[in-house]
Amino acid sequence: MAQIEYPTPLLQLIAQLKRLPGIGARSAERIGVWLLQRGPEFMDPFAATVQKAGSEVAECSVCGFFRTKDLCLICEGAGREDSLLCVVEQPADILPLERSGGYKGHYHTLRGRISPLDNVGPEDLRIGELSKRVRGGIFSEVILALSADVEGEATANYLTEILRDAGGPSLRVTRLARGIPVGGGLESADELTLCRALEGRSLMQ
Ligand SMILES: [Zn+2]
Repeated sequence: MAQIEYPTPLLQLIAQLKRLPGIGARSAERIGVWLLQRGPEFMDPFAATVQKAGSEVAECSVCGFFRTKDLCLICEGAGREDSLLCVVEQPADILPLERSGGYKGHYHTLRGRISPLDNVGPEDLRIGELSKRVRGGIFSEVILALSADVEGEATANYLTEILRDAGGPSLRVTRLARGIPVGGGLESADELTLCRALEGRSLMQ
């Protein structure tokens, strides 16, 4: 007797869910079944929202944050400190810094960090774009807001070389003071911690 399985479309839904970060086989199955039990009333607007976000939101070509127009609200926004640039790993790191109220400059998202174990090298990150922006010459300081673990550290050291080369001797390259939780990235740091980390930033050696 053939083994009973879920119908193919449900198996395909489960397979897609399994591709999401942090979702294992069991969670994918539970969520897939849960979605189907909600029926079309839930599923249709849910699918439409995913599709709309995918087609209307893109990466800002300057800073790497999200945008719906040509430039994101940060790059387009007036009243920012044009001499400051803060380098982060992921777009999601930008909002905690914004909410902290301790920073009003511009941002640059690397979209990752150098990680030989995961096969991520400098050429996989938005480092060429960073170098180009700094060569443009309007920044007096670049703040590296990367995670405080080995890979974040290695990325910071690598970037310091690149930035000194691109920005010349007058460019200050600084890093956040210690206090950003290891592994969690900026997302898991509270606003006060971030403010203090910004105030206590130090020059890269
Ligand atoms: Zn932008």
